[in-house]
Amino acid sequence: MGTIEKFNEHVMATYGRLDIVLDKGSEQNAVGEDGKQYIDFGSGIGTNSLGYCDKDWADAICAQARSIQHTSNYYYTKVQADFAAKLCEATGYSKVFFGNSGAEANECAIKLARKYSFDKYGKDAQRNIIITLVNSFHGRTLATLSATGQEVFHNYFFPFVDGFVNVEANDIDDLKNKLAENKGKVCAVMFEFVQGEGGVCPLTKEFVDAIFAECAKDDILTIADEVQTGVGRTGALLTSQLFGVKPNITTLAKGIAGGVPMGACLADEKCCDVLTKSTHGSTFGGNPLACAGGNVVLDKVTNPDFIKEINRKAELFKSKLAEIDEVEGVDGMGLMLGIRLKTKKAADILVKCAQNGLLILTAKDKLRFLPPLNISDENIEKGMKILKDILDD
Ligand SMILES: *Cc1c(COP(=O)(O)O)cnc(C)c1O
Repeated sequence: MGTIEKFNEHVMATYGRLDIVLDKGSEQNAVGEDGKQYIDFGSGIGTNSLGYCDKDWADAICAQARSIQHTSNYYYTKVQADFAAKLCEATGYSKVFFGNSGAEANECAIKLARKYSFDKYGKDAQRNIIITLVNSFHGRTLATLSATGQEVFHNYFFPFVDGFVNVEANDIDDLKNKLAENKGKVCAVMFEFVQGEGGVCPLTKEFVDAIFAECAKDDILTIADEVQTGVGRTGALLTSQLFGVKPNITTLAKGIAGGVPMGACLADEKCCDVLTKSTHGSTFGGNPLACAGGNVVLDKVTNPDFIKEINRKAELFKSKLAEIDEVEGVDGMGLMLGIRLKTKKAADILVKCAQNGLLILTAKDKLRFLPPLNISDENIEKGMKILKDILDD
């Protein structure tokens, strides 16, 4: 039995997969089981931030596997302490909770925000509503699905978790109205600076400023879901830096550890001690292999030259996209790009690109690029040539 038949017989069919079996990779190239080469503009949905099997990253993980691969959170490990200190220092946050995914990081943020209000205002105040945005995406667990402001996700799994109210992204009046309607009941506002799964849709500076101004009036926590936008993706360590704001909580995952599972919920001095002993946990959270990978990613991404390169490469992508007739426009920030097409369907283009040796993503009806942060100019040019040939065919 071939890999695909074996797979489909034994793995639940929750994903629409291409008929490609990836076997290995190096730098920004993946290699199929059949030896076919692919340039990767998707990096495992923004997880392989340093590409495939980056030498420093692989060395750190292998060395960690040979010393201690895991221990329960009954004990301490140095690698987790080092990573936590580095992450807090680089981001300006006070403390971190480690999980294994974006959903888990957001689940932690939701619990933290509710407990913050519970501790301060009491159980009877029922100050537990979290405002999230229409078209957002926050994960697949029941709470994070409930937080996700897209009706298509709210099916089958009833009852969903109560306490989420959706506001239209970039609609300041809607934000003010929903806050007024729920006055005294809202504990947090949670948002993505650039809605990723929602179609690579950035928030406006005015709307972000309004969130922070409104929340400050009423002791409402701000939660930035930077699971996709964080760790260099948009051309800064955190996208909040580009908007000039400091959320009380920032969640990270996807690219944070270079392609091993890791999620982080960062909290500022106002709320970093809310989650106390036994109120939250994760067996694998802060796993040493993941922290070893994360240390290498952070060392690179906190280098200003590395960030400059991300922004230069983003410009190179945009200049190449401008040469394609079929491209109507480009949205997004840094190396998180969404491409609007004039006549062709993104889903069809994705398949054709794969057949021609280029891995890309879609988001809603846009093509989406989340390339490795260190992608070479040569691979950008090669990949864009493949894309142009397909789009302008
Ligand atoms: C991918 C994503 C998530 C969910 O992350 P998982 O690791 O799949 O749980 C949450 N929020 C945003 C913004 C994402 O892009």
